[in-house]
Amino acid sequence: MRGGCLCGAVNYQVSGQVRSVVACHCTQCRKASGHYVAATQVRLECLEIQGNDHLKWYHSSATAKRAFCKICGSQLFWAELESADISIMAGSLDNPTGLQLDRQICTDTKGDYYALPHVKIVDQSSL
Ligand SMILES: [Zn+2]
Ligand SMILES: [Zn+2]
Repeated sequence: MRGGCLCGAVNYQVSGQVRSVVACHCTQCRKASGHYVAATQVRLECLEIQGNDHLKWYHSSATAKRAFCKICGSQLFWAELESADISIMAGSLDNPTGLQLDRQICTDTKGDYYALPHVKIVDQSSL
């Protein structure tokens, strides 16, 4: 599986086990993405990034950070600081992904201008 940012300065390859896509409607994801986030997740060692110099990590909270391309602004990754996993924004993957959006979290803080997707609502701890 491959993906990258809008301008092409940052690209990545994913190998190994890839989680299904989860939508997050939390305020931070909404502000950072401009809508809500839909992301898959892999073990850190399964992700190989090219163009790391163009990647900017922003510490969005005391426990997590988000990465975007410094040139085009594409949001690519989200990670908890001490985690062995990394989330990959599903929209940055090249088709076909073979993945499915099947769960969503933080629905209580969703934006009021859209309806929730028709997928299961789960609690963050059950991911
Ligand atoms: Zn870019
Ligand atoms: Zn979120």
